[in-house]
Amino acid sequence: MTQTGNRDNTATGIIHNRRHRDAFGSPYSPVYNTTTYRFRDTRALLDVIEGREEGYLYTRWGTNPTIRELEQGLAALENAEDALAFASGMAAISATLLAHGRKGIVCVGDVYGGTQELLINHCRLLGIPVSFLLQQELGQLEEALTQPGMLVFCETPANPTLAILDIPDLARRAHGKAALLAVDNTFASPINQRPLALGADLVVHSATKYLGGHSDLTAGALMASHALVATVNAWRKNLGQLLSPETAALLSRSLRTLPVRIRQHNDNALAVARAMEHHPRVKRVLYPGLEAFPGHHLASQQMTGFGGMLTLELDADREQTAAVADRLQVFLLATSLGGVESLVSQPCATSHYALSRDDRERRGISDGMLRLSVGLENPDDLIHDLTQAMDSM
Ligand SMILES: *Cc1c(COP(=O)(O)O)cnc(C)c1O
Repeated sequence: MTQTGNRDNTATGIIHNRRHRDAFGSPYSPVYNTTTYRFRDTRALLDVIEGREEGYLYTRWGTNPTIRELEQGLAALENAEDALAFASGMAAISATLLAHGRKGIVCVGDVYGGTQELLINHCRLLGIPVSFLLQQELGQLEEALTQPGMLVFCETPANPTLAILDIPDLARRAHGKAALLAVDNTFASPINQRPLALGADLVVHSATKYLGGHSDLTAGALMASHALVATVNAWRKNLGQLLSPETAALLSRSLRTLPVRIRQHNDNALAVARAMEHHPRVKRVLYPGLEAFPGHHLASQQMTGFGGMLTLELDADREQTAAVADRLQVFLLATSLGGVESLVSQPCATSHYALSRDDRERRGISDGMLRLSVGLENPDDLIHDLTQAMDSM
């Protein structure tokens, strides 16, 4: 189950990902804080514009050495032919949906609130047919794919129930109807799950989370084949969704520690999950790495680690649960996830606040849930913090 002990070269590749060697022997590339590039003469400029020579023209187009180096690293992480970096996760998702979802989008399972808003409020406004299937309605997928060229979009593990969807099965069924499958792989990270290798066509990330890893940058990523990426690239260029070269350099810096960070997130979350399983005030621990978790078998087949996200369901009402969150001292009460610091949020008061209670229940989200993003602190301190917060319940 771990990345050590085999010849997975992700850790080596991401540290030595470098396009340029400089005159000074710096092991890392300089940051190209430039918007434009000077040409010797008009002929040289036309050679680049007309594709006879490789070269850079204008940074917003994505033609910037710092951004291309980041994209090379992002592609390698998902073992993809190509990747695009974006100013946010939502930029990556919106460009992907506009480029590949215009014939219709079927959203499967629970997805990020912003994605849901985009699909309901904006894609439909543009006339794009959008439908939603919860996990228990997956039998209707073929029926929902009414014409060729549609897009199936999903997240696994999903927020906040950590529900697992079967990526190879979804890919087969989407392809059977001439549709593409896009997976938001933010929760798992490419270290724990490689959707493209499992049959998906497109992978998107909020790089704001694990890829960035320190809660200090906002960025997004798309990984896919050259052909699928090229279509999205045209949208990114004219929607103006590029990230700055400084942010690209900061994200490249973060990627070098991604394999080791994720391994520790996995270990810490499992330690917290195991300790919480036996607490008298905890009804259920939702974590794919626990044998008792309903999606554990499937997760073991398609993931190489179970991630840093887990949800506790307390034997408590909405107010008591909020009070537990408020008493935590190491866990910070904050939205977002994937940073070195541990965070806690109550889904009914944050990510799923806008849904009716009925709708939350249909999705298996209760008032007693606390979603934890387990960071890189000493796990004993995290367990102690949760215990003291629940003991005064
Ligand atoms: C945060 C998040 C997003 C949106 O990413 P931003 O970087 O905030 O735009 C999309 N999907 C998932 C699963 C997320 O957690």
